[in-house]
Amino acid sequence: MTVPEFRTLDEVEYGAVEQVSPLIRRVIAENPSKFTYRGTGTYIVGHGDVVVIDPGPQLASHRVALERALAGERVRAILVTHCHSDHSPLAAWLREVSGAPTIAFGPHPRPDPELVPPPDPPDPDDENGDAEIVIEESTDFDFVPTDAAVDGETVVSGDGITMRAVFTPGHTSNHMCWTLDEESVLFTGDHVMGWSTTVVSPPDGDMADYIDSLRKVAARGDAVLWPTHGPSRDDGRTFVGALVDHRLAREAAVLAAVRDGRTTAVEIVELLYADVRKELHKPAARSVWAHLTKLVADGAVVVDGGLPTLDATYLPV
Ligand SMILES: [Zn+2]
Repeated sequence: MTVPEFRTLDEVEYGAVEQVSPLIRRVIAENPSKFTYRGTGTYIVGHGDVVVIDPGPQLASHRVALERALAGERVRAILVTHCHSDHSPLAAWLREVSGAPTIAFGPHPRPDPELVPPPDPPDPDDENGDAEIVIEESTDFDFVPTDAAVDGETVVSGDGITMRAVFTPGHTSNHMCWTLDEESVLFTGDHVMGWSTTVVSPPDGDMADYIDSLRKVAARGDAVLWPTHGPSRDDGRTFVGALVDHRLAREAAVLAAVRDGRTTAVEIVELLYADVRKELHKPAARSVWAHLTKLVADGAVVVDGGLPTLDATYLPV
């Protein structure tokens, strides 16, 4: 099995415009976190008549940096990979000032309330709330694209720029990657990140879709992958193949645990993440839950009554 080899991104200068390839510039927002790594990378494609990918978070410094980067240029299209709050919120502002269409798969759907876990009760030992661990990315439910794109659709063409949609659900149900044919590259959003694995958190996140979407990208053979967070990858086929192997190995471990009598996500986390800090067990439980949901769909595991929720009991078939 190949283990994914993650890479770091050094020397980030927030707000600066970096020319990262002949047709691509990048501006990184100052919103570093455990989900965004050094921050959101907004891509500007072309010269003069440009396409902007993932305008980024509602952050004044990033808006000003984009204003500066785009001075004297015409924005012809705004592409959005998905609606997490570090990707789509500034699309509304950019559309307003440029008049350009916003193009995405669609808005972020409201998840099934029966599957959404209730919020955790406050920890009585934690007076200041310092121990709170954010386990999920926040979502921009307000974003609605002016143009909904479908898989394979050419969304920009002419003046030396051809961009197409590659539908990659999994991280979110509406995640879209975008190609730039002239450089044979793929903008991968959060679907494939150079520095870390991607969060797949039900009910909107879906592990079966995610793995299928990884295979779809691995089969494409793009010369370079440009993620929103972290460094680009020119070893996409190997790297993404290793990401698939990594998920399948984890799935096998989850199935083995269920067969061994661990019947809830929490019990499985205690086994599989025994050497990981306790505070990380909650996000890990979301990931195990994603695997359990896939195993139910695959017919390898059943839910003991009711729906495949975070707290459900799972039994081997
Ligand atoms: Zn995301």
